[in-house]
Amino acid sequence: MFKKNDEIELVIDGYTAEGSGVGHFDGMAVFVANSAVGDRLKVHIIKAKKTYAIGKIIEIVSPSPDRIETDCPYFNSCGGCAFRHISYQAELNAKKDRVEQAFSRLARIDIKAESVCGGETERYRNKAQFPVGFDGDVKIGFFAPRSHRIVDCPDCLLQPEDFSEIVNIFREWIKDNGISLYDEEAHKGVLRHIYLRKATATGEIMACAVINADCLPAVSDLAERLKKNESIKTFALNINKEKTNVILGDKCVNVFGDGYITDILCKNRIRISPLSFYQVNKNQAQKLYEKALEYAAVNGDETVLDLYCGAGTIGLSMAKKVKRVIGVEIIPEAVEDAKINAAINDIDNADFFCSDASEAAQMLKEKGIKPDCIILDPPRKGCDNSLIKTVSEMNPERIVYVSCDPATLARDCAVFKEYGYNADRLSVFDLFPRTIHVESVVLLTRG
Ligand code: SAH
Repeated sequence: MFKKNDEIELVIDGYTAEGSGVGHFDGMAVFVANSAVGDRLKVHIIKAKKTYAIGKIIEIVSPSPDRIETDCPYFNSCGGCAFRHISYQAELNAKKDRVEQAFSRLARIDIKAESVCGGETERYRNKAQFPVGFDGDVKIGFFAPRSHRIVDCPDCLLQPEDFSEIVNIFREWIKDNGISLYDEEAHKGVLRHIYLRKATATGEIMACAVINADCLPAVSDLAERLKKNESIKTFALNINKEKTNVILGDKCVNVFGDGYITDILCKNRIRISPLSFYQVNKNQAQKLYEKALEYAAVNGDETVLDLYCGAGTIGLSMAKKVKRVIGVEIIPEAVEDAKINAAINDIDNADFFCSDASEAAQMLKEKGIKPDCIILDPPRKGCDNSLIKTVSEMNPERIVYVSCDPATLARDCAVFKEYGYNADRLSVFDLFPRTIHVESVVLLTRG
């Protein structure tokens, strides 16, 4: 058995959920950052625990056939991307394996993905949140991995080029006005994050300054500078005075524009305000929602319950094909957006409620509402058991479960199985190329 500081030779045979390569030596898992399946490596053991070890590449003895040249100078220091060193096809295969293995290992459910849908690998994101700080100079970019040191990043290949230009407007304004920048440890300083969103279909951009105060000095100067970029339709302040890692506070103050931007998704106009959830990759989200519609297999008569509905996107994409849509979402601003999104698309058979999904499902069940199809699209932590129980008791013909976390999806599908719902179909969608994240959609039926 090896120990810390040993050098070993290792073949990488898989990836972890965090995107690190893993190989096996004497039956022990050795995790190696920035390695690729198929690499034969000389590795320096930097940590040796009882059940696993962590190694660092000393030399690539023979490279994986999947390896490609990385095209981003920040790849090793940023931590945003995990897969810029392998081909996109290899990444898609790894993501498909990860989802299928989550089902087999964590839920003892044997299911294969019927498709893996890949997308654009560059500039696909429509949202960015840049931390801002002072470290010898103004730093705007990203946190170095496992730290809160801000690394300056003039451009990110996942984000629209306009975002870099807007960051530069902020940078100049900060310097010209001596704006105080947030210091996490001291919980002092005003400007915390620059938050940008772009509606891909219309080109409209929303700019937001996240501040540790009720107002921002020299805000009108900033507004004048931002207005010169005609794509910026609205600029708002988000107030976050908490000592927390959570980026956004729950209050926004509009500076100019309408306080929202409008995108087009599944043929609907979708209004998005700063606090509403909206998928970061619109083109791929659209394909995902088309699959959700296919799994819902509606014919015009159905009542569809869209739990965790955000700004209403999934339910509204189905509304014209069903009798009734009921959406439930916990963030009040998102519910407001959902209601307006229904109105601006001439949809009059959709109702939206602001509530916890589990409580709303219970309430709807008690009222005798019997949805034919229930859509679930929870955040990463998945659904509570009480929600799974209530949803199962409502006895819908179909449950379409959209998830951004294969582990909690598989776990929840195992609970659904206890209530008689089986995972029938699975599709994998890459909404986050080059990063560790992956989205899946599952159809559950009593079949
Ligand atoms: N279906 C939407 C949003 C999915 S993201 C879309 O595709 O755009 C998950 C959503 O669940 C977020 O909008 C979040 O605010 C909401 N949410 C989180 N916890 C919730 C809860 N307990 N009850 C209801 N909604 C919740």
